[in-house]
Amino acid sequence: MEIISRFKLVSGIFFRNGCIVCGRATTSAVCTDCSNSIRYIQQPYCTKCGQPFTTHSGISHLCYDCIKGKNKFTLSRAVFEYNGAIVKLIHRFKFGDRVNLSSFFSKELFKLYEAHFGAKNITAILPVPLSTHRLKHRSYNQTQLLAEALSRKLSIPVFPQILEKIKETPPQSRLSAEKRRENVKDAYKVTDRKILKGKKVLLIDDVITTGATVNACTKALLRAGIKQVYVTTLAMRV
Ligand SMILES: [Zn+2]
Ligand SMILES: [Zn+2]
Repeated sequence: MEIISRFKLVSGIFFRNGCIVCGRATTSAVCTDCSNSIRYIQQPYCTKCGQPFTTHSGISHLCYDCIKGKNKFTLSRAVFEYNGAIVKLIHRFKFGDRVNLSSFFSKELFKLYEAHFGAKNITAILPVPLSTHRLKHRSYNQTQLLAEALSRKLSIPVFPQILEKIKETPPQSRLSAEKRRENVKDAYKVTDRKILKGKKVLLIDDVITTGATVNACTKALLRAGIKQVYVTTLAMRV
């Protein structure tokens, strides 16, 4: 119910055409069934990468991948599980010019930030960049919209040009974990090594699946002298 009422805040633009997820007639932006399918990431999860554990009881601790040092960022947290209505909502946000969804999503990211990153002295927000080719195709980078909305709430500046995608890569969604890593290896470059040297930064992406993209960005940032990289995403595949 809480989600429905929050959707109403941004619903004026949406619900004339029915539920924005399933299209059924509804009095709010997202119908009750779709709203009920939305799950927040909850503990127990990995204390570093935030991946929820399949056992729904017990305490949070490091996961196997993080113990092995696979994740190079300092801390990562996601708002939602990437399933149910969230998949469609993010898709609409990405490809449907549903720019106003950024209002709802950025509120959720703000709460997540306050809970996990508020005391970390982060001084810059960096959206995961699209390649120039994909940006042309899509007209806007949804991750940059989120970064800008969060930036306004936190008064932390966005540096959209610092990270650049220098390699055209096929979409990650159809690839295995191994292929994803290979796909994005050396795909990102830091354009200015001076501005953020020694700083702590927040990297924003929409969905985290295997972590290949955020790790590729993190490696490029750490190589360029950034002190620590924190990651926040709207949704995480569980
Ligand atoms: Zn619906
Ligand atoms: Zn982990």
